[in-house]
Formats: sequence, C-alpha cells, structure tokens
Amino acid sequence: MSDTVALSILARQPLCRPEVSGLPRYNAGLSEDEVRRRYGLKNIVKLGSNENPYGPSPRVKAGWDELAGRLGRYPDAGAATLRTDIAKVCDIAHDRVLVGNGSEQIIRMIAEAYLSPQERVVTVRPAFGLHEICPRMMGAVVDAVPITDQATFDCAAMQEAVQRPTKILMFANPSNPVGCMMTGDALQDLIDSCPPHALIVVDEAYREYAEQDPDYADARTILEKQTRPWIILRTFSKAYGLAALRIGYALTSSAEVAATLDSVRDPFNTNMPAQVAACATLADTAYMQDCVRKTVAERERVVQFLVAQGFFVAPTWTNFVFVRTLMKADKLATALLEQGIIIKPWKEAGFENWIRISIGLPEENNIVLRALADLVL
Ligand SMILES: *Cc1c(COP(=O)(O)O)cnc(C)c1O
Repeated sequence: MSDTVALSILARQPLCRPEVSGLPRYNAGLSEDEVRRRYGLKNIVKLGSNENPYGPSPRVKAGWDELAGRLGRYPDAGAATLRTDIAKVCDIAHDRVLVGNGSEQIIRMIAEAYLSPQERVVTVRPAFGLHEICPRMMGAVVDAVPITDQATFDCAAMQEAVQRPTKILMFANPSNPVGCMMTGDALQDLIDSCPPHALIVVDEAYREYAEQDPDYADARTILEKQTRPWIILRTFSKAYGLAALRIGYALTSSAEVAATLDSVRDPFNTNMPAQVAACATLADTAYMQDCVRKTVAERERVVQFLVAQGFFVAPTWTNFVFVRTLMKADKLATALLEQGIIIKPWKEAGFENWIRISIGLPEENNIVLRALADLVL
C-alpha cells in the first residue's frame, strides 16, 4: 500500500475511540435564556428538568455573602465536612461516602472504574440517559428492559435479564422518566437473581418524593443484608433545590468501593459553595419536606386534570409526570416552547408519544395544563 493511500485511510478514521463516535447525546433540553432568545418571549415556565420550584432552604442564602470572600482558595478536595455530615445523617462510615459534581459525575466514575469493553450492564427502558451513555462510552453492552404496558417496572423481565452474565445492574428507583417505584419485595427478588459479584447501583435521585410510601424499597437495608458490592446514588439537585451547584453523593457497600471510585475522581470535583450549601440544606430537612409535600399535592392535582382530559399518565412517585399523548412528543414540545413552556419530549423508539412534565409552582402548572388542553382538544 502506498503512503498516500495509507494516509488517506487514516484520515477517514475518526480520531476518537469507536465507542465515542457512536454515542447517543444526552438530551439536556433548552435553558430559559435560550427559549427567551429563540422565541422572543419574556416569561418562561421551565418544567423540563425536575427541579424544585421553591429553590433551596433559606439557610443557603444566609451564608452566601461570606462565601464570596473565600473564592480565591481551592475547595477541600476530599469534601470532608460534607462527607462527615452525610455520614451522620445516613448513619454510615464516612469512608463509604463519596461526593460528586452532581450524581451524574458519579455515574460516569462508576462506568470508568468498573466497566471494560463487552461487559454487560442491565438497566430499564426508558432510562435516565446517562445510565446508558456512560456504560456505552466504556464499550460495555447495555441491556435495557422495557417497562410494562402499565408503565411500571417489568420485574419478571428484569430478574430474567440479570441472570445472564451481568457486571452492573443500574436503574433509578423511583424511575426517571417514568416515575414508577419498585417495592422492597421486588428489589429483594431482583438482587437475589443477580450474579454473586455483580455491582448493584440504585439511583435514588427522587427518593424524597417516594419515601413516605411504606412499599417504597428501602434499598440501603436490603443491600446491607447481602454480599454483592453496591452503590446508592443521591442528589441535592431535586428535592433539596441545589441543581445549579452540581452536587450529589454515593453511599457504598464498603470503603473499598468508595476508594475505587475515588481513584478515578477529579481531585477538586466539587466546588466550595456547593459543599457549604449542601451541608446547609442537609441540616434543614423540615424545609425540604415542606417542598416535597407541596409538590406531591400539586402533582395529584396535575394527574387528575390530565386523566380527566383523556391522557394516559404513568403512576408516579416523583416530582414529574410521564404522559402519553396522541401527538408526536417533539411536535407537542415545540408548540409549547412557542408559548414559553419547557417540557421534555421523549425521542426513544417506542416512546415518541410521551412527554415528561415536572411539577412546578401552582401557577406554572396551571399554565402548562391550560396550554395542553388547548393544543390537544
Ligand atoms: C436528575 C438525575 C440525576 C442527576 O442529578 P445531578 O446530581 O444533578 O447530577 C441522576 N439520576 C437521575 C435518575 C436523575 O433524574
């Protein structure tokens, strides 16, 4: 082969790893500013990212000014104070706690630390995007078990799926985007079906909205009673109202698992204001619970309205609703965007008619419900 031919073949190969060139993109949705600019609107109703519309505890604001004076210094690389606080609240050794720049970052760290090409990850479909993207980035094979027709976890199919060689079982409970919840019995059976060395990752980003239900799986207690390694993911971005600061955490089965994740962690992965704010919100459970109560009450009102309009609404234990519509989700989302309303349309095959709407302030919910009724009728 001549050098020129060899060079031209090289030039046609993408520079990046093949796993990366075929990676699906995470659909982060549009920001308020982007919608304002694109549609020339002033008022935006942002119900696309499952944020807490009431924002964080007032205790965060109380300490905010003082933080500005400390911005010249690097944050504590080990986030010792926050990890100690989390350890206390969760009654766990601090060396089994790891914090991330959002729990998203911990999902990536799990993939980087544990997955080699061709290893198999079991999750659900539809799933939180990164549960699929991060494993695929490492060349792992993702087996996503579809939800049932009733928009619940297909526990029997999941049990069957984990009986084939499985390196990681990873899913969110309650689920995002579906909203469904797995019971303790079902989780127990699922874990019992996993290979003895499988890593079990339960993403509890929405646990605060589900934990009042006695049937909601207490993953921590169930996982502690068995020998497989495990990681529970939690975040300050949802019920705690700190999405902008990017901070979440993992509880792990052992200090060894935490140390493994720590070895792929960026040294200063969480910033100082985020660490301080997370400590402040963690100390104000009453505020968080009040937000959850208001959101759950609003959610029930939203569900009732949508059902009365003839929509199929997936049963939900979260701060959002997953709704099947007659229109294509993309088209519906664009029509709402033109009115300044941001929701999340699903694009995955088989779910192109589903939209996810976060529960906002009562007046925001009224706006989206009115718009939906007008559009679809
Ligand atoms: C929102 C969300 C996260 C990410 O939370 P961050 O801490 O903001 O990165 C993780 N998992 C699920 C299922 C989520 O919905």
